Amino acid sequence: MPESKKDTLPLQYIKGIGPQRAQALAKEGIQTPVDMLFYLPRTYVTHLLVPTLASLNITLRKQMQAFDENSVPNLSYQQEYTIIAQVVLHKEHVYRFNKKLLLLELSDGSGSKAYIRFWSYTEFYKKLYPEGSTIILNGKPQMDTFGKISFDHPDIQKFDFEDQTDYNAGAILPIYKLNEKLVKAHITTRILRKILQSVIETHLDTIKDYFSQKFREKYSLRELRDSIKHLHFPQKIEDVELSKHRLKFDEIFFYELNLALKNKVVLDEKKGLLIPPKSLLARTLLEQLDFELTGDQKKVIREIVADFESGKPMNRLLQGDVGSGKTIVALLTMLSIVEHGYQVAIMAPTEVLAEQHFHTISKLVEGLDIPVTTLTGGQKSSIRKESLQKIESGEAKIIIGTHALFATKINYHKLGYVIIDEQHKFGVVQRADLIANSSESLGNDLIPHVLVMSATPIPRTLSLTIYGELDVSIIKEMPKNRKQIVTKIASDSQLKQVFDFVKKKIDAGEQAYIVYPLVEKSEKMLLKSAIEHYELLSDEVFQGYKCGLLHGQLKWQEKEEVMKAFLDREYQILIATTVIEVGIDVPNASVMIIENSERFGLSQLHQLRGRVGRGTSQSYCILVSNDKLTYEIKGKPLKEDEKRAAVIRLKTMERTTDGFEIAEVDLKLRGPGDLLGTRQSGLPDFKYIDLITDGEIITQARKIAFDIALNPSTLTPIEREQIMTEFSKRYGAENFYRIA
Ligand code: ADP
Ligand code: MG
Repeated sequence: MPESKKDTLPLQYIKGIGPQRAQALAKEGIQTPVDMLFYLPRTYVTHLLVPTLASLNITLRKQMQAFDENSVPNLSYQQEYTIIAQVVLHKEHVYRFNKKLLLLELSDGSGSKAYIRFWSYTEFYKKLYPEGSTIILNGKPQMDTFGKISFDHPDIQKFDFEDQTDYNAGAILPIYKLNEKLVKAHITTRILRKILQSVIETHLDTIKDYFSQKFREKYSLRELRDSIKHLHFPQKIEDVELSKHRLKFDEIFFYELNLALKNKVVLDEKKGLLIPPKSLLARTLLEQLDFELTGDQKKVIREIVADFESGKPMNRLLQGDVGSGKTIVALLTMLSIVEHGYQVAIMAPTEVLAEQHFHTISKLVEGLDIPVTTLTGGQKSSIRKESLQKIESGEAKIIIGTHALFATKINYHKLGYVIIDEQHKFGVVQRADLIANSSESLGNDLIPHVLVMSATPIPRTLSLTIYGELDVSIIKEMPKNRKQIVTKIASDSQLKQVFDFVKKKIDAGEQAYIVYPLVEKSEKMLLKSAIEHYELLSDEVFQGYKCGLLHGQLKWQEKEEVMKAFLDREYQILIATTVIEVGIDVPNASVMIIENSERFGLSQLHQLRGRVGRGTSQSYCILVSNDKLTYEIKGKPLKEDEKRAAVIRLKTMERTTDGFEIAEVDLKLRGPGDLLGTRQSGLPDFKYIDLITDGEIITQARKIAFDIALNPSTLTPIEREQIMTEFSKRYGAENFYRIA
């Protein structure tokens, strides 16, 4: 049969499939034999990998202990385990208004037990897994304080007699994920194995490895067909790891290659503004500052200035924790651009932050005679019109605004430098999108330099992945005048002491924030609302003190007023929801109280804490939470692992102020998508690569991809051709980026 025909042969003609099963598989996205080959096992069952319940018990207990000590445990309690056991007993409990909970008691003869909990479809599951049946279970176990192990609605398959025999003989059995549709079409793991055996015989050779043998040897990659075959039918356990490594590498390699090629097109076709290193304006400002730049600030300025004089367009990410002093770095580099007759634009995520930048920067450049202009969506149209005019005429030199700066086409006069502040609020802004609306002002082959600033300390592997085409500068060192913020966890029952402490600080002339979780409708009954508490606190607890209230329902002008009053010390205490998270700078505020702190995400807590410690006096952050974390969310008790995650967040805050360390923990707790602002991260859904644990592969693949993009001649023409063919398959044939 000619290859192309073979490749597109409908699945139903494959031995063991037939029309009905083909239909069910198609719904899973499996249309062709090749798709079938890439439907890989979810897990493997073999003695080495399947713990007994007794040993699982020991593992989980150890983790509980680590958790009780003052360290952050490794979070592998979130790890999935595969267990083989017998259902020995059904138990039913009635909970809340005759709802039924089904408990399956499991035993594997090791002396320990475990339970599966079904909160719904109990009758169905009772029949499906009768007492006496043997099952394979895959899921995340939970251990309660009495040491009882349970799984909630895990993945379960029957473990049939033949499999048991093979398993006992030491085989490695692949287990496939079976959803309801597949089960209804009578597709079991066993049947899938048979199908795959025949598809491998007939169709494995339609897959061609796009990496040459030389390439594979150089980078220790297993052959592609070999990898697929061994993932379905591993001979030894190492086969699985080696083969998975190959698929992971390919996935991230082509992603990075896409970034690398895009980057190269920009570099080949566009030039950057050539700006000489010395700047009189920057020097003048530097001399006026009442502080000395930190070593890291100086280092980053050098990196940026080197880009300016390279003739290539800069595309740089500046990472630095809250309060590390990114603004002044941006401003000093802006001045050298302005000095040569170009405009600079700085884009902030919110109007409030744009406003603050406007004030800060206007004040700093006061003596330098540089016009500063704002452009935001919320501006009055008359003011906006005036701003636009100044931008077009070139009168405006420093332009500060929100998305409005690039949302529509604005006729910049000569825009030479774009700064994007607090990148994480946007997700990934592609330089290409941004300059499309702004680069014309420089003429065709010149594009502005771009600096992206972020206070979200993104772990290195992750920033490499998502910002693959950016150079990265990091400020780790905090300004010298800062004192380490003291962070303490307190319980609700200690609130009185906490408030007494606040009074003491205020009496000494300092200011404090008291923060509550955001008020959402559905949670109204469960949460202390900021407004109620404002009344309670201002009228009773802090009677005689001046309290301000800031919450999400206020208009932004009102927020501005409240903030301004706090800054001017008209308020001693600011009672607030999370709106203070972004962009306010009140150096005299030294105490941050966060109530219901278990409700906040780790990076949110870190951002909030960053609001204090900005002045010279010792600052404090007190994380108040319910004693035993027995609070409820939407009427449902928190699961054990949710409680643990909450405690881990608080303990991490108490232990460290290092944003990168905090980000690592956050990443483990929540996964990368969430860390970057859910689904806005611009990251694809990787199928094989794990952004948390596969750092080494990511780093290697990125380096290889970028080397190839810049030095294509290290590959032979055939090697290039094959890689490009696969690249087009993955990233679209219309993708015009090419190697060489
Ligand atoms: P972020 O990196 O969070 O944007 P900012 O740029 O707002 O931080 O800086 C926070 C505060 O630190 C500002 O008040 C700024 O003037 C001050 N600052 C910046 N650099 C230094 C320094 N080297 N020494 C002392 N204070 C500094
Ligand atoms: Mg900032």
